[in-house]
Amino acid sequence: MGRKIKWLYQCIVDAFISVAIYPFSVKFLHNEMKTLKAIVEMITGHCRLRKHHHTLGKVSEPDCRKCGMEEETAHHVVCECPAIKSIRVRLYWKPLLLPEEVMEEPLWKIARLASETELLN
Ligand SMILES: [Zn+2]
Repeated sequence: MGRKIKWLYQCIVDAFISVAIYPFSVKFLHNEMKTLKAIVEMITGHCRLRKHHHTLGKVSEPDCRKCGMEEETAHHVVCECPAIKSIRVRLYWKPLLLPEEVMEEPLWKIARLASETELLN
């Protein structure tokens, strides 16, 4: 096979691969951005949790939508909400967490917890 034919063949293969993986790569980047957004929101507390929205005057009550016992803060949701205990145990192997323990674990777990509780939706 001549050099030009090999080059043309490689261009066609590369184009085919690019077209084939494009939807997956866009979906992957979208999911990565969604995960990163959830992590940043939960760490900073600037998110759709009720405590923050109450501070902004968007909701009348800051109480947790899951248990109703405490203010719905990122700390409460991730570390101590009794209604989310089963998710916490599955992800962190503990029913209650200290913030330091959360930060020692992979950050994707915060995004997974937020996703499973649907509190950031
Ligand atoms: Zn709660």
